[in-house]
Amino acid sequence: MPGFEVFGAEEKKEVQDVLDNGVLMRYGFDGNRNGHHKALELEKALAKQMQVAHAQAVSSGTAALSVALAAAGVGYGDEVIMPTFTFVASFESILAIGAIPVLCDIDDTLTLSPEAVKKAITPKTKVVMPVHMCGSMADLASLRAICKEHNLILLEDACQAIGGTYEGKPLGSYGDLGCFSFDYVKTVTCGEGGAVITNNASYASNADKYQDHGHDHVGNDRGAESHPFLGYNYRISELNAAVGIAQLRKLDKTIATQKQHYNILRAAIAEIPEVSFRAVPQNGVESYAFLNFFMPNEELARKASGALKANGVDACFYWYDNNWHYYRKWQHLLEAKSLAKFSPEIVAAVKQNNKQYPMSDQWMSRTISCLIKLSWTPEEVNQRAQLMVDAIRNVL
Ligand SMILES: *Cc1c(COP(=O)(O)O)cnc(C)c1O
Repeated sequence: MPGFEVFGAEEKKEVQDVLDNGVLMRYGFDGNRNGHHKALELEKALAKQMQVAHAQAVSSGTAALSVALAAAGVGYGDEVIMPTFTFVASFESILAIGAIPVLCDIDDTLTLSPEAVKKAITPKTKVVMPVHMCGSMADLASLRAICKEHNLILLEDACQAIGGTYEGKPLGSYGDLGCFSFDYVKTVTCGEGGAVITNNASYASNADKYQDHGHDHVGNDRGAESHPFLGYNYRISELNAAVGIAQLRKLDKTIATQKQHYNILRAAIAEIPEVSFRAVPQNGVESYAFLNFFMPNEELARKASGALKANGVDACFYWYDNNWHYYRKWQHLLEAKSLAKFSPEIVAAVKQNNKQYPMSDQWMSRTISCLIKLSWTPEEVNQRAQLMVDAIRNVL
């Protein structure tokens, strides 16, 4: 998954362009920038790659989610349904705009369960936010049908699955809005950065303003711009955008490499009858950023995770015990421990999440996810496959 593995002359050239003219800011300074608009160029390339009308680059994936929610008019007291297995950014971005994260069970896709989503809907629900964790997607057709029926917004967090598709569409482009992260460990990285994509012109126009203090970007003179509404600074810098341009050009090649490595590892461990694989929804194609599989039970999964490490198979994750990605370790959320004070109403609503999610536990306690690297040689992939098989067989 990490795009930093393929940094090269292309990234350096793009960054050099920016340093040569010295304009690190995406807006203004037209006399100095020598025609370079890296953020704009990144947005155009991303919109094309994702086959959407609009892309808005921002400073992070977390920012992208907040900007997307605000752009769709979501805010104070609105409920956003999100999965128990995701990165902490999901609830942070929701709380940042005053809305309430509502945790919801996942199923064997390791993403939102449509059945559980139906049960989580209340009169306050505004958004369903599936998170395409570890390279594969939620059952988007079912989620879209639910959103249509209840008049909800479908916001895809595709931060960990850029390059995957669903019904032939790039992940992130299927819902009303989609978000990407370009942080340091993502498939496309620019150090820190992110983007919102949408086909909705009004959302796009809102996002453009909101991520830059509410500026409307009309005319050449920043001093003369007006502020139709309040915003924040979620801008991406030209330096970061420059790296992103070079990285995005490599995406198709990156996905092809991931797929090749994934297929070899998967075929090897598929020989073990006790191992089963994460469900991929019909018409979905993974980004192959991770190989995700189930062990028969929690005890064996824990043991296999230890054995993989002991065998030198690095970058395999047992998320069930993980600090960042699973609800069991999110005490700060579950107890609504905010530094800046939330209203008592928001605190009470957030604390409603503090309960058990047995369906999520059932899948996550058995799940192991192994990161797919781009830099492996064919020999290294084959050797790794053998080490994985040995480790898992030993445990069984
Ligand atoms: C990385 C990530 C984010 C947040 O992105 P940042 O750029 O690190 O803020 C959001 N959601 C998921 C699923 C992620 O993996």
